[in-house]
Amino acid sequence: MIYLDYQATTPLASEARAAMLPWLDGPDGKGFGNPYSPHRLGRAAAAAVEVAREQVAKLLPSGGSVIFTGSATEALNLAILGSDARSFAVSPIEHAAVLDTARAHGVACHVLPCSADGIVPADSPVPAGVGLVAVMQVNNEIGTVQPVGELARAAREAGALFLCDAVQGAGKLAPPEGADLIALSAHKLYGPKGIGALWVRDGVELSPLIHGGGQEQGLRSGTLSPALCAGFGAAAALAMERTEEDAVHVEALWRRAIELLPHWTLNGSPSRRWHGNLNLRREGLDVARLMSDLREIAFSAGSACASGSGRPSHVLQAIGLDVRETKSSVRLGFGRYTTIREIEDACARLDAAAAAQGMIP
Ligand code: PLP
Repeated sequence: MIYLDYQATTPLASEARAAMLPWLDGPDGKGFGNPYSPHRLGRAAAAAVEVAREQVAKLLPSGGSVIFTGSATEALNLAILGSDARSFAVSPIEHAAVLDTARAHGVACHVLPCSADGIVPADSPVPAGVGLVAVMQVNNEIGTVQPVGELARAAREAGALFLCDAVQGAGKLAPPEGADLIALSAHKLYGPKGIGALWVRDGVELSPLIHGGGQEQGLRSGTLSPALCAGFGAAAALAMERTEEDAVHVEALWRRAIELLPHWTLNGSPSRRWHGNLNLRREGLDVARLMSDLREIAFSAGSACASGSGRPSHVLQAIGLDVRETKSSVRLGFGRYTTIREIEDACARLDAAAAAQGMIP
């Protein structure tokens, strides 16, 4: 199996797995304590959580705190619903965790523009009265990198908070500048599933969504898993160490894939993009057939959620593709553990399968 779905999830780094194991101990070990218990086992677990918090914080700007959550979806819900904003501005290419949450609870939801290249213009006006602006750092479907620094400044000038979904950019790019709230997910940066984080700038007031023991600084209740925290922390530390090395590797994979797929059209900007994302289309391609012909390659027909729903991708539609074009698009996502040989093999098989459908040449 060649895994080319890195935007859906990344493989767990062995370093993250190793960091988790001591906190999954049974009764003979010392790692199963509740991090909120005052005894030695509890204090050891609490210390592991705090080490992890520091490691994750290094991916983020200074001047704020990291709140662990069960996922980035939860972090985004906490940011949107926990702010007292009643009017939102969002880009049309946000993840459903932002769009559906803002639409479900906002009195008003203004949609910002997006170019045919998949970029939200840096000078997009923020309407008066908007309380929270949400624009992601890197799009999960087409990989385009948004001018979040400028957009955060525009939000601030309009008196609004700026929320950045940095799920696909964290550990790869510098943290978004000027944001008030930043959401992350461990499983998109080679950490475990089931844990995310919300970074909250000092002074930003939020109300909790999940009530109970108030374990996460009163903002999120529920006993944290020290194992998941430790895995997230180790993955974050590794991403910090390897940022340059990972980027160089991804660039080499990208260049090879582009060389091998000259007859495919790229969706979204080629340059203002994370190069571990190759979203491509072929006129008339039957993607369902392609996926069934290439069962040994794990890739996506869009975002994991959009392809599951069978609905045409809202991101591809936002950049002006018609329904037929969206349905003839595929997303190849690669990263740290993808080899050049895997990319070469996958591209050759993709091209051959498209040719078998009568695609020319
Ligand atoms: N935001 C983006 C850009 C994503 O790609 C995803 C995952 O698909 C999420 C948010 C949600 O992350 P999680 O799986 O941690 O809830």
